[in-house]
Amino acid sequence: MPSLSPRSDLESLPKYVPGRTIEGAIKLASNEVPGGPLPSVQQAVTAALTTVNRYPDNGAQALRERLSQELDVPQERLAIGCGSVSLCQQMIQAVCGPGDEALFAWRSFEAYPIVAQVAHAVGVKVPLTPAHGLDLDAMLAAITERTKLVFVCNPNNPTGTALHAEEIERFLDAVPPHVLVVLDEAYKEFVTDSEVPDGVEFTRTRDNVAVLRTFSKAYGLAGLRVGYAVAPEPIAQALQQVYVAFSVNSLAQIAAIASLDAADELLARCRDIIAERERVRDALLEMGYEIPPSQANFVWFPLGERTVAFAEHMLDHKLIVRPFAGDGARVTIGTPEENDQLLAAAREFAAI
Ligand code: PMP
Repeated sequence: MPSLSPRSDLESLPKYVPGRTIEGAIKLASNEVPGGPLPSVQQAVTAALTTVNRYPDNGAQALRERLSQELDVPQERLAIGCGSVSLCQQMIQAVCGPGDEALFAWRSFEAYPIVAQVAHAVGVKVPLTPAHGLDLDAMLAAITERTKLVFVCNPNNPTGTALHAEEIERFLDAVPPHVLVVLDEAYKEFVTDSEVPDGVEFTRTRDNVAVLRTFSKAYGLAGLRVGYAVAPEPIAQALQQVYVAFSVNSLAQIAAIASLDAADELLARCRDIIAERERVRDALLEMGYEIPPSQANFVWFPLGERTVAFAEHMLDHKLIVRPFAGDGARVTIGTPEENDQLLAAAREFAAI
């Protein structure tokens, strides 16, 4: 009799390594914003606690209605997910059969290869340009008949680089219509370059473009898990079909709406983070580091073989960053004081 064992291919599944939390250390590892939830958001969540004996609205109707107004997109083209990482997985489940290909740049968001493999799709990685940006020409050249989906992370996690409207438009014009292009805009609110497009605009005129957004970053709700997709209607419906029932909980739905109500205040916080990002990058450049321009709430240190030593040095200084061994380290922009500590530790490392 064969014994019970998990799927054999899970042995080769890359691990998602979440940012560590260490007592007394500053966490700059997960691209969270440093400020806690606003009082108005806390109040809304607290009030909603009295109803958690009931299941949440499976279709997140109130949140979808609100997003529909905000984005001027019909509700039928909106889907909610348990964080946008869940929507990444739902996207693949919605369009890929076994053996179909999901294409993405590498390095990019570390969940892409995982969700592809879990869904029995084949993750295809296309190297970044020497300037640490997405190589759209190479991605185009990598599309085959089996390609069903392309993730375009803009700005790119972990490098912070962002594509311009014209580049994306040229790419979209060349992508075959059977391929869904998913513009992952988790860091959109930190973009200051006016040439970087709002991906939702592409979804108004094209049948094969979707956009992913999240409440985890600028809106400060990473712990509550809620994101959304703007997609062609058949894809939005398919996302709902593969959705794990009730996975966006009622507190998350309420908090997302309360955060949209408080958008002005939250986006003002983002502007502070953006100012800090520029200050930190300028200081690092002066120290001699190569840091690509970032349009997100983190900066990328392409340190290659020195990456792990850098992360260990930071840990010695009570700073938790995110190393990708052999490649580089990603460091989230924190409060001005936290950033000062980062800069002091980086200055020491540069002198080693
Ligand atoms: N996309 C990108 C590019 C990300 O960096 C992240 C979070 N690290 C996500 C999606 C997922 O975010 P969440 O699931 O918290 O919405």
